[in-house]
Amino acid sequence: MSTGASAAERERGGRAMLELKDLVMRFGGVTALNDVNLTVNEGEIFALIGPNGAGKTTVFNVVTGVYRPTEGEVRFLGEKISGIKRFKITRKGVARTFQNIRLFHNMTAVENIMVGADAHHRSGMVSVALGLPWHRQAERDGRRLAEELLEFVGIPHRAHDLAKNLPYGDQRRLEIARALATDPKLLLLDEPAAGMNPAEKVALQQLIRQIRDAGRTILIIEHDMSLIMGISDRIAVLDFGQKIADGLPDEVRNDPRVVEAYLGAPADAS
Ligand code: ADP
Ligand code: MG
Repeated sequence: MSTGASAAERERGGRAMLELKDLVMRFGGVTALNDVNLTVNEGEIFALIGPNGAGKTTVFNVVTGVYRPTEGEVRFLGEKISGIKRFKITRKGVARTFQNIRLFHNMTAVENIMVGADAHHRSGMVSVALGLPWHRQAERDGRRLAEELLEFVGIPHRAHDLAKNLPYGDQRRLEIARALATDPKLLLLDEPAAGMNPAEKVALQQLIRQIRDAGRTILIIEHDMSLIMGISDRIAVLDFGQKIADGLPDEVRNDPRVVEAYLGAPADAS
């Protein structure tokens, strides 16, 4: 189908940051992504929604280089990134959080962030662990950055707590801080509000806006529709690996196919 800019894309006007072109991802007999075309523009908060198993996390895995797509390609700022190594994609400016939180449970919050930053700056965890002198300055800088990031995501008081002792919502914030430590242009958030209470969700919504206002682009997977409708510039809907809708929040909310496949009757949509 057409890969040209939609009316909504032209309206917003940012340059294309992330482009999925005719993307197919198969795992054996399972087609997780079936010919997906999608463009996320610079400066957008773009939401990817759809039922469980629709292929949303697979999009993140393909974009970040966990999987090489079966067909099609991923472009980041015009450059093809599908097929290159994960750490190179990180260094180009793509970072993510995980649906199933992946923290180092027995490290402190600060240490978890420093590991994330290392993936970017290549000071190398092994060397940091050995305390080699030429890494001490980098480590001090890393600590300061980590503390600033914890402040930014709203949990400065957790700096020296072990990740496993943080409440669930704070673990999700720590994951975001760790992703930000690589200074990404594009941040991928995989169900960041899962397990959060309503107050935490409101705070998360503000945090996501702040991250965007600081000049980053956000692609978010989330099931909480009031959160998604509240922050998204545009929304794409996946169902059985296919994109069934793509547009402004009001367009998507009222799209009969989306209501049928995902949102249900209007009374259930909240
Ligand atoms: P979502 O995030 O939308 O819930 P996923 O992207 O996790 O969906 O999964 C989409 C489909 O792809 C599911 O059927 C899932 O079982 C399958 N899938 C994802 N990753 C793999 C994998 N590594 N091996 C086999 N099947 C997979
Ligand atoms: Mg998922």
